[in-house]
Amino acid sequence: MPPPFATPPETPLPRMLRVKDGLKDGLGRDISYLRVSVTEQCNLSCVYCKPRTGVSERIEPPAMSRNEVVQLVKVFTSLGIRKVRLTGGEPLLRRDLETIIAGISPEVEGRVHLTTNGIHLARKARALRDAGLAGVNVSLDAADSGSFERLTGKNGLGKVLAGLEAARAVGLKTKLNTVVLRGWNEDQIVPLARLAQQDGFQVRFIEFMPYQGNGWDGSQFMPAAEILRTIQEGLGTDLEEEPALGLEEGPARLFRLPGSIGKVGVISTLSADFCDRCNRVRLTSHGALKACLFGGHPVDLLEPLRNHASHEDLVGLIRQALTEKLECHPMRGGQQPTLSQGMWQVGG
Ligand code: SAM
Repeated sequence: MPPPFATPPETPLPRMLRVKDGLKDGLGRDISYLRVSVTEQCNLSCVYCKPRTGVSERIEPPAMSRNEVVQLVKVFTSLGIRKVRLTGGEPLLRRDLETIIAGISPEVEGRVHLTTNGIHLARKARALRDAGLAGVNVSLDAADSGSFERLTGKNGLGKVLAGLEAARAVGLKTKLNTVVLRGWNEDQIVPLARLAQQDGFQVRFIEFMPYQGNGWDGSQFMPAAEILRTIQEGLGTDLEEEPALGLEEGPARLFRLPGSIGKVGVISTLSADFCDRCNRVRLTSHGALKACLFGGHPVDLLEPLRNHASHEDLVGLIRQALTEKLECHPMRGGQQPTLSQGMWQVGG
């Protein structure tokens, strides 16, 4: 009997187990995008992400070894997952991140992306690209140092801007994500839109998502329509919307900026949700599958993997979890948020 929790040897998947027609959830939605949290640890303390009440503040070290991350991702790609995003916590805190990327990249034909706060990006960009990373989303919620520090607890704007340049210089597809919070950074919307216009970036403004534990009510919420109005008024121009993107490019509505290759976008998770075309599932750094960010029970895949579950058994667990993927997050019906883990735990 192999000891429980020993890391099983890596075995290539038999070709016949690869599913050609993709993975579907219980409602027939195509599931093609996996987000993997590789650690809960983070070097920033963003006001909208860190816990306030009711959620454990304990930050656990990542449970999954790099081999286990790669092995579980391979089970998903055998089922039809075509794009993987590594997130956290802060994924650049993992020293073996490049090895993880190198292990996953061939499985998704190079479609491995990363979400990072960018603090360590300048010195890591080339190695990440060389490992097979295709693109990076950098979270940036402020364009001036004071606001950045107020929002993140750290004086790090210069490092993030250097990281953005380094990522672009080595050829990584680079986008910016900004969570908008009324009373905190709505004054940063226009400066960040100008950054997009001047430097040719794509900046996507994300509606703040409340969850149990960040202890915030709706008063910080600013809907996408108001964000867009703020940009139009601030830049003194109408915004021209781009044609809708394919599912794997994400749920943002994008708008051209006059005289620039830069774009702004909005992600309206609450005001105009996109649950009916949700194509994503999440794997926590503890190897639990979450079919929906805001609900459903996490399904543990790590312990079965360590106990030498067969490929078919793991596939069975994944398919079972997908039958329970919610039709939509509960806030659509005006209910309270039900995300009882922090975003850094689920992998935002
Ligand atoms: N540390 C990395 C970073 O900062 O990008 C990755 C983890 S972070 C949890 C991933 C994403 O979740 C970020 O784009 C962040 O802006 C978003 N996020 C976290 N809490 C959020 C909230 N309450 N509402 C909306 N987006 C949130």
